[in-house]
Amino acid sequence: MDGPHAAGGPSAPDVVCLGTVVADVIARPVDRLPEPGTLALVDSLTLHGGGCALALGLLVQRGIGVDGLRRDPEVPTSASVVLVDSAGERTFLHLPGANGALRADELGEAPYAGRALHVAGALVLDALDGEPTAALLAEARRRGIRTSLDTAFDARGRWERVLPALPHCDLVTPGLPEARAITGEDEPARAAARLRQLGTREAAVTLGSDGCYLAGDEFQGYVPAVPVVAVDGTGAGDAFAAGLLYGRLAGWPLERCARFANAAGALATTAVGAFEGVGGLTETLRAAGLS
Ligand code: ADP
Repeated sequence: MDGPHAAGGPSAPDVVCLGTVVADVIARPVDRLPEPGTLALVDSLTLHGGGCALALGLLVQRGIGVDGLRRDPEVPTSASVVLVDSAGERTFLHLPGANGALRADELGEAPYAGRALHVAGALVLDALDGEPTAALLAEARRRGIRTSLDTAFDARGRWERVLPALPHCDLVTPGLPEARAITGEDEPARAAARLRQLGTREAAVTLGSDGCYLAGDEFQGYVPAVPVVAVDGTGAGDAFAAGLLYGRLAGWPLERCARFANAAGALATTAVGAFEGVGGLTETLRAAGLS
């Protein structure tokens, strides 16, 4: 996506993303697991962003700077087996691999190179989750950098590890299952309000085909989804976060940001893979009804 230009010079990125690089094997449709010892057929089984070299290649191809990427020959590339049902809902079997080994002392100044620092995949970044992530976000804020965070689902249920980061976040964008687990609140509106009480300035709870609930000082409410034929929800949450952050950096009002983010998420579901369906700026604005 074309970004609003960074203040830090022509090569400075708008957003520095601190988070997971994952190889996805996507199988669909899988509506239920086969009985142990049997075999089930699927219509498609494809490799996306797979292997460290391929993952890197894809990032470069998409115009994403990889200077900050760290390689560790001792640990495997993180990977997911993604089971997608006929409605497009996805379920992961996930190996944190190298992502879980990334330490704050390996990062240097890289997190502070942009206008925004986005932590993606919190709770599967074992060596960063908790206080180290909180310290990175706090330092970014101190330098006037906008901060945001998105979580993965925590298979071990150690949700409290996200709490130290929240007071240093301008924005968090959890899915409803994560928001419920972090806050103990079922209702999206109450979960978002609780996330703000816990310290984040703005909270967007994503609701799949129901759009999102967004809460900030200037706007609070449900924002409906952009209707699409969804084939694979993988990456919708990431695209949503990217859309919301784009709008915030461009100085748009919060509700417009949410409509744009919903369109980014919706487009991501229209193709198999985390980013194959993601649209450019013009297409996303059009899908959001904002052009
Ligand atoms: P995650 O990928 O983190 O589970 P969601 O499934 O909630 O997140 O999707 C993120 C956003 O993408 C939603 O808030 C919504 O705007 C959009 N989205 C997801 N699924 C659909 C869908 N089936 N139809 C339209 N929009 C969708």
